[in-house]
Amino acid sequence: MLIPIAQILREPQVPHDLELDLDVTEDWRTEYAHFVPGIYPLDLTVTASDGGVLVHAQTELDYQAECSRCVTEFEVPVEIELSEYYTTEARVAAALEEGDEDAENWPTHNGESFDLLPRLREEAILALPLLPLCEPDCEGLCADCGEPYRDLPEDHEHEVLDPRMAALKDFFKDSES
Ligand SMILES: [Zn+2]
Ligand SMILES: [Zn+2]
Repeated sequence: MLIPIAQILREPQVPHDLELDLDVTEDWRTEYAHFVPGIYPLDLTVTASDGGVLVHAQTELDYQAECSRCVTEFEVPVEIELSEYYTTEARVAAALEEGDEDAENWPTHNGESFDLLPRLREEAILALPLLPLCEPDCEGLCADCGEPYRDLPEDHEHEVLDPRMAALKDFFKDSES
């Protein structure tokens, strides 16, 4: 997803708002959740500053997961925001020369464009939950019948009888008749 910036670089400190289509593919996923593939609207603000571009990206993506408590499949939207500074390759080279090893990971532009996708995808995947929940207070499944508490009446419970008590109950029942 190459964002053209030649014009933007000629107007330092002027924010440029862009609306783009973000193509989310199958591989936007973790072991526990995945984004629903498709085209999503993406809002970008790109501002040239000090030779680089400051980027603010914002979008809302739907993800699907299985609730870690009640095992129900659910789909919800999640807001993704990214703020990043894309510097020049020359500056990265200079910083590496000075011994700044972190510079290797600085995202760069090439004077014409930069690729937003790798950082955006990374940010989106970080927003996926490790323990997906269909609702923040999902009560999970009843340990006795395995039904989700959501689908059960509020007073749902299983009568647990002590076997000795049960025998006693039968005894009284018999003596009454
Ligand atoms: Zn649940
Ligand atoms: Zn139950």
